[in-house]
Amino acid sequence: LVRLRSRLSRSQNSLGKGLLTLLSRERLDDDTWEEVEDTLITADVGVTPTQELVERLRTRVRVLGTRTPDELRTLLREELLALVDPTLDRALRTESHEESPAVVLVVGVNGTGKTTTTGKLARVLVADGRSVVLGAADTFRAAAADQLQTWGERVGARTVRGPEGGDPASIAFDAVKEGIAEGADTVLIDTAGRLHTKTGLMDELGKVKRVVEKHGPVDEVLLVLDATTGQNGLVQARVFAEVVDITGIVLTKLDGTAKGGIVVAVQRELGVPVKLVGLGEGADDLAPFEPEAFVDALIG
Ligand code: GDP
Repeated sequence: LVRLRSRLSRSQNSLGKGLLTLLSRERLDDDTWEEVEDTLITADVGVTPTQELVERLRTRVRVLGTRTPDELRTLLREELLALVDPTLDRALRTESHEESPAVVLVVGVNGTGKTTTTGKLARVLVADGRSVVLGAADTFRAAAADQLQTWGERVGARTVRGPEGGDPASIAFDAVKEGIAEGADTVLIDTAGRLHTKTGLMDELGKVKRVVEKHGPVDEVLLVLDATTGQNGLVQARVFAEVVDITGIVLTKLDGTAKGGIVVAVQRELGVPVKLVGLGEGADDLAPFEPEAFVDALIG
């Protein structure tokens, strides 16, 4: 948690600092509130949530009358936290069933950090004493299977892979079969994501899911989004949500952007919680998303 805060705060706290500076002005007039809005929108929070926050904050500041820096910080913290929604269930369903392992599909556009996230997640689970099987169903990007296998070897998880350009669904099927045979706890399946052929993607992901479900339920479908792509990530999120039921969002590369507001925007868009965040390229740089720590990092 402490690490999450310090990692996030390096890139994130310019937003909170900016807001607090604005709010500490002598007069909080319309222009100032407009600047508050601009600051939030620039940070990718999205127009509607921004307007809601400013409206509530404005009312509360007016009603309270007095406003010391501490009071303003507390109000801002509360309102930002409400936007991020601390009540959402962010637990990852990776516990095995009686007869079969938990199955996690990792989906998203290539380059967002899917394979890396799959590897990091395997590491977290193995460190937690679980046995993990990896399915290299991203047969579109030539190096993806090698990359995943390298992660697997590093963390101690078997990787099931097929021939280059092979059928992703059959690899996913084999990975779960292997997981059942080994009595594994969790099977993590890395999939391909290419947006330019939406029907192709739809067919492929849908098929991967259906085929895997012949063995048992799919427990999580994690959508990986690159935080640095801002509103583009929202477009991707919409497309994927049409294809599969997303159960959680992984926001990667949060270490490389001050636009953490995308957390709010994407949760609103999909009605699905951000469950994990990527904070760097290293093996340890995946963390559960903690609303409190996130907001504290924003405010600095
Ligand atoms: P995929 O095509 O979606 O499987 O993407 P990769 O897993 O290959 O990741 C693409 C690039 O993003 C790689 O260089 C990763 O090291 C990098 N990457 C992934 N996650 C993060 C993150 O959280 N922070 C940073 N800074 N880089 C990341």
